[in-house]
Amino acid sequence: SVAPQIAELDGSKFNITRSTNLRDVPLPGSPEEMSHSYCTDHMVSVRWTAANGWETPEVKPYGNLSIAPTASCLHYATECFEGMKVYRGYDGKLRLFRPDCNGERLNTSAQRSSLPGFKYDELKKLVAKLMEIDGPRWLPKERTGSFLYIRPTIIGNGPHLGVQVPKEALLYIIAVPWPDPSKLKKEGQTEPSKGLKLFGSTPDTIRAWPGGFGWAKLGANYGPSLQAHGKAQALGFDQILWLFGEDRQVTEAGASNFFIIWHNAETGKLELVTAPLENQLILPGVTRRSVLELVRDRLSENFVGKLAPLDAVERTLTIGEIEKAAKEGRIIESFVSGTAYFITPVAMIRSNDTDISTLGPDGEAAGYAAQIKSWLEVIMFGKEEHDWAYVV
Ligand code: PMP
Repeated sequence: SVAPQIAELDGSKFNITRSTNLRDVPLPGSPEEMSHSYCTDHMVSVRWTAANGWETPEVKPYGNLSIAPTASCLHYATECFEGMKVYRGYDGKLRLFRPDCNGERLNTSAQRSSLPGFKYDELKKLVAKLMEIDGPRWLPKERTGSFLYIRPTIIGNGPHLGVQVPKEALLYIIAVPWPDPSKLKKEGQTEPSKGLKLFGSTPDTIRAWPGGFGWAKLGANYGPSLQAHGKAQALGFDQILWLFGEDRQVTEAGASNFFIIWHNAETGKLELVTAPLENQLILPGVTRRSVLELVRDRLSENFVGKLAPLDAVERTLTIGEIEKAAKEGRIIESFVSGTAYFITPVAMIRSNDTDISTLGPDGEAAGYAAQIKSWLEVIMFGKEEHDWAYVV
């Protein structure tokens, strides 16, 4: 007998059902936009079964899902997702930023949670189709310099309550108007903030561990982290700085990667330091990778304006080292990176009962984060042609 043909995900064929009930597009800064839940008119949806593989992708009106109360994702967290953005360039074109990096990460995340994998470069085609339909109305040509947030998701939606590898799955993609992070103000805030306040995690909440899954973008990483996040916010902090191990290694902050810029204690050289990928304690951020590549490419030897050359170093660093560097006046800047909140300066870290300033000795950031952010924006919004940008 001939083995059944298992279909690969194919992002070039679609069944399309257009919405007949188009929604109002929210204005920038409106309550709908601030809700982070008001999606565009359509969504992409692709079913998968173990027997037949991926079905033909659909674009259909945005709407609620219908899944059994016994569905695998609701009980066993068979779920993974991505976060990306589509940018309206100053030349009127829509662009994705390094979408194959998100495709690759979604594929590895899916396999880590026993969900079906796919050829990673199909993801960008699915997002492009959604934007072909919703882009013109939701990100109109005149709104240059703005973006929508895109959330590709895979869930185990089969109804089997027995603990098992999912036999059914659903990949869906939604697009959400998202407030510009640089324009967000905290409640009661009057002056511009110099940066985030991070709360160093305590040993009773560990986000990721060797052999675990902190390196994959699984929903299972986020739910259990929210208790610590909630406590930190109640104390007036913005994010948790996730620490690991007896030596309190600095891993990442909230849903962002963490960077510090300091003078090396031995050599005096300026370094940009961030946690490594090898021990699997952090999510390999697309923005993190881009920051490191830009610094190595553009800042490793030459002065850029007033900015001195910088060595980009991926290595284990501890909160003790940061505390010591702060005491010795060696820190000049710190920031976090991620798609949703982009490049954001960090002003201080609380570790146990000690508050550590991560600004420079003059109480200001040195300006590297602002330079890197501007380089990235130039690429995202098409002011410079770059192969990291994918025109849709
Ligand atoms: N770490 C975690 C835990 C995250 O959720 C994210 C957001 N995806 C990041 C880092 C930053 O990753 P990226 O730059 O790809 O958005």
